[in-house]
Amino acid sequence: MIDSHCHLEMGQFDADRDACILRAMDSGIEAMITIGTDVESSMAAIGIAREYGFIYATVGIHPHTASTFTEGETYDQLKALCADKRVVAVGETGLDYHYDHSPRNVQRDVFVRHIELAQEIDLPLVIHSREAIQDTLEIITGCSVKNAVLHCFSGDMRMAEVLISRGLYISFSGVVTFKKAQELRDIAQMVPDDLLLIETDAPYLAPQPYRGKRNEPSYLNYTAGVIAQVRGISPQDVSRITSNNARRLFGVGEVASSGTITYKIRDSLYINLTNRCTNECIFCIRYKNDFVKGHNMRLPSEPGVDEIIAAIGDPVAYKEVVFCGYGEPLIRLDVVKGVARYVKSRGGTVRVNTNGQGNLINDQDVLPQLAGVVDHISISLNAQDAQTYERLCKPEFKGAYEGLLGFAREARHYIPVVTLTVVEMAGVDIKACQAIADDLGVNFRVRHLDVVG
Ligand code: SF4
Repeated sequence: MIDSHCHLEMGQFDADRDACILRAMDSGIEAMITIGTDVESSMAAIGIAREYGFIYATVGIHPHTASTFTEGETYDQLKALCADKRVVAVGETGLDYHYDHSPRNVQRDVFVRHIELAQEIDLPLVIHSREAIQDTLEIITGCSVKNAVLHCFSGDMRMAEVLISRGLYISFSGVVTFKKAQELRDIAQMVPDDLLLIETDAPYLAPQPYRGKRNEPSYLNYTAGVIAQVRGISPQDVSRITSNNARRLFGVGEVASSGTITYKIRDSLYINLTNRCTNECIFCIRYKNDFVKGHNMRLPSEPGVDEIIAAIGDPVAYKEVVFCGYGEPLIRLDVVKGVARYVKSRGGTVRVNTNGQGNLINDQDVLPQLAGVVDHISISLNAQDAQTYERLCKPEFKGAYEGLLGFAREARHYIPVVTLTVVEMAGVDIKACQAIADDLGVNFRVRHLDVVG
């Protein structure tokens, strides 16, 4: 995991800073971003980052001390500090109308100067905002902020939606573990995977069960655990997703540059065997992002049966093995059959996620060939009628919608479990889709837009 925001230079760590850093490493923290809050602490943060290869620094003036900012001198000092290789962002900066330690107009001016600095030197920005939703959003929008994180998010759903629409990261601290923080947990549930970060903000805001005590990076596990719970994924998934995001935002560590053949989410193993598809769904995540739950899906080439089997290993180690990547698996029917046979021969369970056009793609009835090797087939219905399907999914084949309905109808005779799915979005009549599934006598599942895996 990466602690995307902590203050290791602060006096609260003077007595045991090295021990804290060691505890963080022992608890699985691979990197920490230690955050400057004034010129002095920014220099101290750089000092720590120089000492430890896995700690990085940021440089900025916190809104509490915004009145110390002087045009020319402070700006130039910050800019000079940013030239250090260990500095990965500008901030923290922003607005704090809870304490109002600096006059609000000064906070706003200094926030804007930080944005200008970040844009001038092309570094991401770390933003603090407390009880200042409207002004924060106005400044972010007015200054066209594009590359930033709103740290220790404490805003409302509307604020989160604006940040998400601008492609800005949202970071959750230990506050998300507090009993009364249900609204924050609701927001933590809906932030897209590719914009989610976690942090400790140590020494502040220790998560449950350490609330009220000094916080430290090793406690990040507690925050990750709650985020995993509310998002219905595993702590390992949270770790992978947020670490990958931190690497991308701050440019630290290695981000996988090409796609993976198999990838684990929760306790299932997914197989990514092609990036080709016969649809061009307007909501398809592959047009927005290379990553699913922190796994790169952009294959350099399509893997063969042996390569996939080698990547699976023991299929019984997983609840199920799922054919589902950035493309339509049944485009590679023979590979699906070969791998599925292997999984079944080893006692595993197989699911295929498909757009339901297998018969059109292969110009033959593929279902009898999947009988006995596929336990569950999940078919993307996506629309209540052919016209809506054409508009949303832009299929390559004429009659694709009728084709998928026929496929779903027949699938029941060959595959034990059949599910139709739809993505919840404007123009999709969920009740009518449910009625189609009921009529066909198959299961029905509604998926949330942009939530994959
Ligand atoms: S069918 Fe699936 S993979 Fe193909 S474009 Fe639609 S969402 Fe993407």
